[in-house]
Amino acid sequence: MRILIVGGGTGGTIIANNLARRLDSEIRARTANITMLSASDLHMYQPGLLYVAFGQMMPDELYRKQATLLESSIEFHVDPVDKFELDRKEVTTKSGKTYAYDILVIATGSRVMPRKIPGLEEGSETFYTEAGAVSMFKKLREFEGGNVGIVVGVPHKCPIAPVEVTFSLHDYFNKRGIRDKVNIKYHYPINRIHSIENVAIWAKPEFDRMGVEYETLFNIEEVDVENKIVKSMEGSEYKYDLLISIPEHHGMGVIEDNGLGKDGWIPTDRYQLTMEGHDNVYVVGDTTNLPVSKTGSAAHFEAEVISENIASIVKIGVPVTEYDGKVYCFIEAGHDKATYANFNYENPPDLRAANKSMHWFKMSYNKMYWTSVRGLL
Ligand SMILES: Cc1cc2nc3c(=O)[nH]c(=O)nc-3n(C[C@H](O)[C@H](O)[C@H](O)COP(=O)(O)OP(=O)(O)OC[C@H]3O[C@@H](n4cnc5c(N)ncnc54)[C@H](O)[C@@H]3O)c2cc1C
Repeated sequence: MRILIVGGGTGGTIIANNLARRLDSEIRARTANITMLSASDLHMYQPGLLYVAFGQMMPDELYRKQATLLESSIEFHVDPVDKFELDRKEVTTKSGKTYAYDILVIATGSRVMPRKIPGLEEGSETFYTEAGAVSMFKKLREFEGGNVGIVVGVPHKCPIAPVEVTFSLHDYFNKRGIRDKVNIKYHYPINRIHSIENVAIWAKPEFDRMGVEYETLFNIEEVDVENKIVKSMEGSEYKYDLLISIPEHHGMGVIEDNGLGKDGWIPTDRYQLTMEGHDNVYVVGDTTNLPVSKTGSAAHFEAEVISENIASIVKIGVPVTEYDGKVYCFIEAGHDKATYANFNYENPPDLRAANKSMHWFKMSYNKMYWTSVRGLL
């Protein structure tokens, strides 16, 4: 059985490592093999970007060599896929090589699309890339007071990030002793301050306590860079001195270009995690079109289901388990405190008051990620 994994981020790496262990005897007997194709020889711990944006982590702390994270029985190539030919059970890479498979896993993630909004790229700081996070920190250091706006496009990965960056801004300006010279205004596209209702209910009094203003039903239309004004489709405007954006995301261009899903989101069975109409193609993480948060934690829980099912297909011919929509998000709440949201398709999260131990748990997880992505946690 030839198993091909396209994408070496959170989801792809956990699946590859789990499978390598579950199928150890089949790999030794040469009745199964695992190949991973990725676009980079480096693996980035993306949640660390938020800390880089506040000078609390250096960019080089976010990376490990992908090859060092993989079990030795996995064949790994840095050779991005260009064409998916699902009917022929083949992919072709940018270098021109063709890889045939029996089971395919697509784990290519997602990307920011700031250029969809006129002026957003030039007019705002975004911490969703390494360069963006470093630039944001430099701007924050120079900032002496005025209006700081947070604007959000949908969909985007890490739905908690808009709330977390707001708490972190409040903390940062407090620590610099200039919070009284800074107005922070949070803008959100729907009619409450977060897409997850219980997060909205929890965050509102926190924003009030911190003196953060908020405006809902604010969908970014354009940024007038010269005059420093962000305008919404609903007709309102905000005059900023510093604008922080979380732009709308799409799946990767290769998914769209191959016609696998509109805007790069692949139609995925919500329980089996197979691509609709293709039982031998699994989809994990951000690139699914599932109604779950685009987070590393969702990718992790999906990866466990997918690896268990692929291993059982190899061993007994059928899958054995289903994904229940599980997501677990830490929420950094400022003042060295954090809480968490734990939920699935059926059960919404029940948020508790933030506390210091959850913050230190999150800080530890920032290190434990490298164990987790090896499939050991
Ligand atoms: C600022 C920020 C904060 C975040 N905070 C959190 C958090 O607190 N908690 C949380 O759970 N999640 C968080 N996330 C989200 C989390 O990082 C992602 O949801 C997660 O990495 C998705 O995993 P994935 O495997 O789908 O994609 P990724 O991890 O992005 O991996 C995609 C892989 O595909 C490869 N690839 C791309 N194109 C090709 C191609 N053509 N051929 C082959 N390979 C390709 C890439 O090189 C990469 O290795 C955060 C993200 C950001 C940016």
